[in-house]
Amino acid sequence: MHGYAVRPGSKIDLRAVDPSDKSFFDGDKSKGHEETASNGSKLADLQELLYAEHKQRILIVLQGMDTSGKDGTIRGVFQGVNPQGVRVYGFKAPSAEELSHDFLWRVHARVPASGEIAVFNRSHYEDILVVRVHELVPPDVWGKRYDQINAFEKMLTETGTTILKFFLHIDKDEQKKRLQARLDDPDKHWKFQLGDLAERKLWDLYMDAYQDVLTRTSTGWAPWTIVPANSKWYRNVIVSSIIVKALEDLKMTYPLSSESLEGVKID
Ligand code: AMP
Ligand code: MG
Repeated sequence: MHGYAVRPGSKIDLRAVDPSDKSFFDGDKSKGHEETASNGSKLADLQELLYAEHKQRILIVLQGMDTSGKDGTIRGVFQGVNPQGVRVYGFKAPSAEELSHDFLWRVHARVPASGEIAVFNRSHYEDILVVRVHELVPPDVWGKRYDQINAFEKMLTETGTTILKFFLHIDKDEQKKRLQARLDDPDKHWKFQLGDLAERKLWDLYMDAYQDVLTRTSTGWAPWTIVPANSKWYRNVIVSSIIVKALEDLKMTYPLSSESLEGVKID
């Protein structure tokens, strides 16, 4: 699955990455579904082990344009996992209190504790995406944030956190279809905001901002993966496979009891 990992230091051109690519799993949808289901049960077991061992921390970052499938990925990948072991947090526009601190303050407060998986639906990367595109702070302020984020993530990994970052890559046509589907279904209107259309107009500026994020913040300690996300099944199988592999690589083991349980009888 390393085909989509962003090699640290490589310059990313998103136009060269096909959001409809299906090179793995023979492009076969039913195979993909099977693999996602199998990954789901592996993930359930690995999560229990992670919790039992209580040493490792897992941080998963999901970024992507509106309708790119951040919520759908969370549903599709984590169904079957014990809800007690996964904490999902969606980052919105910062509150007045949050804005009165440094931009990582609210993020640091939500990183996973030992034994936990935290999923960020949007993240500190918004502070060099939406903030840059809308010029919410001057360039000399957001411009320093790439290095600040790399240093922050380095500190997290050096203190026991595994970080996996996913950019859900769709194209503008796919977004149009998905926005239209929301508009056509009254039950989906709550998800549709007129502001989404204004953001859509800024598509190219967002792609530039994403390219810089992927180019400058994919590091050996906290790599980005570009996930072709025009197909939902393909997106889910890629994301779930990478998470399962990363958890398996931790080589976790169930802790031994601190008490001697030998010969214990239950009446
Ligand atoms: P949604 O993901 O649809 O719930 O929307 C969340 C909104 O919050 C998006 O429009 C984001 O761009 C916005 N948002 C998240 N983080 C920030 C941030 N640091 N600064 C400004 N807007 C943000
Ligand atoms: Mg939205």
